[in-house]
Amino acid sequence: MNAILKNFIAGEWVDGSGVTRNINPSNTNDVVGEYAKADRAQTEKAIAAAKAAFPAWSRSTPQERYDALNKISAEILSRKEELGRLLAREEGKTLPEGIGEVARAGQIFAFFAGEALRLTGEKGASVRPGLDVEITREAVGVVGMITPWNFPIAIPAWKIAPALCYGNTVVFKPAELVPGSAHALSEIIARSGLPAGVFNLVVGSGSVVGQTLLEHPDVAAISFTGSVGTGRKIAQACVLSNPMKKFQLEMGGKNPLVVLDDADVKVAVEAAANGAYFSTGQRCTASSRLIVTEGIHDTFVAALTERLKGLVVDDAVKQGTHIGPVVDANQLEQDQRYLKIGQDEGAKLAWGGELLNRETPGFYMQPALFTEATNNMRIAREEIFGPVACVIRAKNYDEALAISNDTEFGLAAGVCTTSLKYASHFKRNSEAGMVMVNLPTAGVDYHVPFGGRKGSSYGAREQGSYAREFYTTVKTAYTFP
Ligand code: NAD
Repeated sequence: MNAILKNFIAGEWVDGSGVTRNINPSNTNDVVGEYAKADRAQTEKAIAAAKAAFPAWSRSTPQERYDALNKISAEILSRKEELGRLLAREEGKTLPEGIGEVARAGQIFAFFAGEALRLTGEKGASVRPGLDVEITREAVGVVGMITPWNFPIAIPAWKIAPALCYGNTVVFKPAELVPGSAHALSEIIARSGLPAGVFNLVVGSGSVVGQTLLEHPDVAAISFTGSVGTGRKIAQACVLSNPMKKFQLEMGGKNPLVVLDDADVKVAVEAAANGAYFSTGQRCTASSRLIVTEGIHDTFVAALTERLKGLVVDDAVKQGTHIGPVVDANQLEQDQRYLKIGQDEGAKLAWGGELLNRETPGFYMQPALFTEATNNMRIAREEIFGPVACVIRAKNYDEALAISNDTEFGLAAGVCTTSLKYASHFKRNSEAGMVMVNLPTAGVDYHVPFGGRKGSSYGAREQGSYAREFYTTVKTAYTFP
């Protein structure tokens, strides 16, 4: 076993007050690494360091910010295979998916390096004679980042890069299951030449490290991605701790993919197979509700089932694997529990769901497809977060649209159709933050806003230049020359 990897506080790598380890879900005999766990006092030190570093960093030049972000981007991109392999080993994404995620993180840092050089602000005449008005944006302060395990490099990147770009300082708390990816990313950030305290890593639990960030008066903003249940607790804690604390929440989804009679069956099956099952279905944007109109229903189900039979479930880093393992024993247990719930509710398990044995002991499960589901069943309403999808039959487009919107979530939605009329209508009337036509609901660009509506998201959008809404505050200045 290698040395225990440390936390990064005030520009130093420091020991913790305990140790945590991560296990390879493709091979539970493989311990990926050991990591120092931060406690409350260490988290407070990280917050103090970020607070102390804020005044200088918030006044740093665009060139300084560009240089640091650009350096981070270059190292991530140059090491994408190695980091992608670590990610796959730690989280269970396939190697191509892991490498793709790392590349995306590098591109995000490159985007925000460029964004640091963008001239911002507006200047104009006042409505009162002789006065000038200027509108500028300033950094918010110390930002606490609480992230999930399912995109352990891309999600931290899409929070850390804009935070630094707009002059904030950062305390980053990764999810418990993925300290390895977080540590690798933090090492790269630590080498980028940022002044001490601008970026801090604290590995630890939600109830200790996370809670300290939520409660601390010197944390000006919290950027959270994770489940709805945790998101709601975070909202309450932020409001109770300091009514002025800014927060944004990116949470779960139960994303509909509508397949209409006039869809190209191949396109629809590809969108469903990819959207529902790739990354082992562990994506907030997973296409977990397949809403299919009468005329194409049987053809679509038969073709999708055939496609699923051809998917290889195996070790995430093995060549030829399409679907890696489920992330851990708890998630696998949850997936299996929903298979029973679905059948008890009267849906038909049309394919898959079996636990699989492979060369190494891991959390392998055959992708599962339910048919004859209705939208009031728990399998159609609750986020399962695994390789489980259900097909719901709809009479026609209007009913399919109504079913797609009948959910407490509103992250992503898709429609497969060859009709411009239905595509346009769906784009206008879907109650989701992201809408896809003839594409899986998962799979997004890195330079445009990401986020949802209803129970899926709260606060400003992430990604792209829209991210500055969260990481800056507006100042209006009047001058009487
Ligand atoms: P989770 O809610 O269990 O944990 C997310 C983070 O919150 C972790 O770092 C955890 O330690 C921390 N946390 C837990 N309790 C806390 C508390 N009381 N105080 C402070 N922090 C606390 O989520 P997860 O299982 O890691 O991730 C899966 C979930 O994330 C799914 O619901 C998925 O849909 C969602 N997700 C959403 C998006 C999006 O952008 N909308 C993206 C990826 C994942």
